[in-house]
Amino acid sequence: MPVADECLAANERYAAGFDKGDLPLPPARQVAVLVCMDARIDPAKVLGLDEGDAHVIRNAGGRASGDALRSLAISHELLGTREVVVVHHTDCGMLTFTNDQLRQRLQDRLGADASGIDFLPFDDLNQSVRDDVATIRTSPLVPDDVVVSGFVYDVRTGRLHRVD
Ligand code: ZN
Repeated sequence: MPVADECLAANERYAAGFDKGDLPLPPARQVAVLVCMDARIDPAKVLGLDEGDAHVIRNAGGRASGDALRSLAISHELLGTREVVVVHHTDCGMLTFTNDQLRQRLQDRLGADASGIDFLPFDDLNQSVRDDVATIRTSPLVPDDVVVSGFVYDVRTGRLHRVD
């Protein structure tokens, strides 16, 4: 069975007991979380978030990319969040390749020209957190009074370590 069908079946069970249809649109805890898409991280469990609490923005690496900043602008300006939590993590896939390597692979396997794409890999985990925190703090799309914090999540221990 395709995973999509399994998801649909799981949703039947979920919706049968669903009781959160009255939550307001703006996040109750006024926070946006930017976290890597890594399958080992469940942001709600790791950070103690319930439905309705937070915006969770995920991408490869949890990077403050153009699209992440787009989401943050909407989160802050239209939906009232006042804080950003950035979470990168140990053993991240973004530590395993360079732009040139991935561009070459896409060229070889798909014939795709990715020469104009920065995939935002990194080789220093703590520095990548500091870089993204700085990018968000200095972005003209993010109000000056928004509080930005950066963390590394250890996938072996489940523990969060503050970086910035
Ligand atoms: Zn990752």
